[in-house]
Order: sequence, then C-alpha cells, then structure tokens
Amino acid sequence: MFQLILLAAIVYILFKWLRQSPPAAPRPRPPDQPAGQVEEMVQDPACGTWVPLSQAIAGRQGNVTHHFCSTECRDKYLEETNHK
Ligand SMILES: [Zn+2]
Repeated sequence: MFQLILLAAIVYILFKWLRQSPPAAPRPRPPDQPAGQVEEMVQDPACGTWVPLSQAIAGRQGNVTHHFCSTECRDKYLEETNHK
C-alpha cells in the first residue's frame, strides 16, 4: 500500500514537472493596441474634459476641427461660439 502511495506521488511530481518545464508561450498582443503605447488625448473645449482621440466627437468650426467628449458638448460649443 505504501508503494502505491509513493508511486502516485512520483507520478504526480513528474506530471507537475512536465507541465511546468515547457516555457510559457508569449501571449499574442492585440494588433490595434501595442503595449506601452499611450493613445493621443484631446481636450474638449466646451467642458475641458480630456478624451481619447478614438472616442472623441469631431466638430468642425470653419477650418478648425475641435474634439468633444459628447455630441451635447459639441452642439453647445458650436452654438455658443457661432453667436459671437
Ligand atoms: Zn464635454
């Protein structure tokens, strides 16, 4: 009986060792977001919030393009500046 327990322990250790021995495969990175790269931030001129460029709402005013956190801010800002 003791031999069976010893054998089971050896098999268990061997099994664990075999699973740990191969080096862990490197995790594939998402192609659109490389590690360490910080996304460009733009400031909402209406409320001052900084938003990632990919999530910002673009609003053109003449030849200038502004970036906003929401369509509400864009509409508000464009409406206010158009009155000036
Ligand atoms: Zn805003």
